[in-house]
Order: sequence, then C-alpha cells, then structure tokens
Amino acid sequence: MKGERKKKIRLGLGWVAAASLALAAMAAILRQEPDPLALWREGIAAQVGARARKEWGAAPAVEGTGSLGSPRMITVHHSGGGVFSALDELAASLAIKGIQETHMSVKGWDDIGYHYIVDPAGRVWEGRHLDRIGAHAGSRQLNTGNIGLLLLGNFDLQEPPPYQLARLGILLDKLRQLFDISSAEVYTHNAVRTREGLGPTACPGRHVSEWLQKRRNKK
Ligand SMILES: [Zn+2]
Repeated sequence: MKGERKKKIRLGLGWVAAASLALAAMAAILRQEPDPLALWREGIAAQVGARARKEWGAAPAVEGTGSLGSPRMITVHHSGGGVFSALDELAASLAIKGIQETHMSVKGWDDIGYHYIVDPAGRVWEGRHLDRIGAHAGSRQLNTGNIGLLLLGNFDLQEPPPYQLARLGILLDKLRQLFDISSAEVYTHNAVRTREGLGPTACPGRHVSEWLQKRRNKK
C-alpha cells in the first residue's frame, strides 16, 4: 500500500515535469528569439555610449549594404557648410536627420554615410550600423574597414567646442581599443584621401585637423 502511494506521487511529479517541458517548448516556438545581429549592434552602441538611431528619427536603411569588414582604420569628418554650435538635443537630431535625407534622397545612398556623429555638446549618436560599409571616405576600397566619424560643425570657420573634442577623444580611444586600431590608423578625411591619391578636401577643417595631429604626436 505504502509502495503504491509512493509510485502514484512519482507518477504525479512526472506528469508535472512533462507538462512544464511541453509548455517551455511551446513558449520557445511562440517567442521571437533575439536576433544576434541586433544584439551585437545594441552592444556596440552601448559600449561607445551612442544614442540609438530612433532618437534622431532615422529612416530605415535600404537593405543590402555590403559588410564593413574588419575595422582597421578611423576617419574623422566635419559636416562643413555653415557654423553649427547648437547645444540642444533637438537641433542636433534634426541636423543628423537632414544629413541622412541628403545622403539617401540626393546622393541615393542606402543610409547616412557615417557610423557615428558627435554633436557640439559632446553627445554621440549612432549613424549607419557599424557592421555595414560606410559612405564617407571617397571610394569603396577606402570605406572598407573604415569607421566614419562625423563632427557637426565647420572647423575652418569655428573652433570646436571643448565638450565635442573631449567626446571625440573618448570615442576614438574606445573604438581603437575595441577593434585594436593603432593611433597611426586614425585619419582626417583629407589625410586618408591624400594617402589613396584622391583629390584633397578641406574636411574636417583646420582646427580639428590640428587637434588630431597634436594628439597623434603625443601618443
Ligand atoms: Zn569628410
């Protein structure tokens, strides 16, 4: 009698275990498993402290952009045009949105050309996803493995605000550390074009170029 009761309890527990296994399997089927690429993108954005694309109202990128390849160098740009020194978030997000619109609608690119944007207040914003090849340096070959950073402003016309430069420095160090990029592989847009025998550009303006040169000499 005692034995039979034990057996019944054991059977009862077996049923509970089988039911919970079945429920877990059903939940896994119903649940959307996290996309590994989306997780990687979120992780990198978090590590460099970048605001998500949705925060500047990014339009979705056109599908099918090629891969960046292994990051091997970084190129710094400025937006050029007029002076831009607004410190509020809304002005920065609208400026980034405007750049994306120009790149997609006028130039016919898949997305904004740069991977990260640093605004005058020192905020970093996520541009094109880092796993996709950018459109910023001057040729497909030059964009391969090349992380494109944009500073909002025209640094021939204005001095870069200290917060913006400080944040650029932190971003450069973080990206170099994450992808094992040497300080010699951080370029101004003009320097990288010259290296490839492409025509010169004023980008990223003399003040930022001087700052980057000084920084490179110190390291
Ligand atoms: Zn440039």
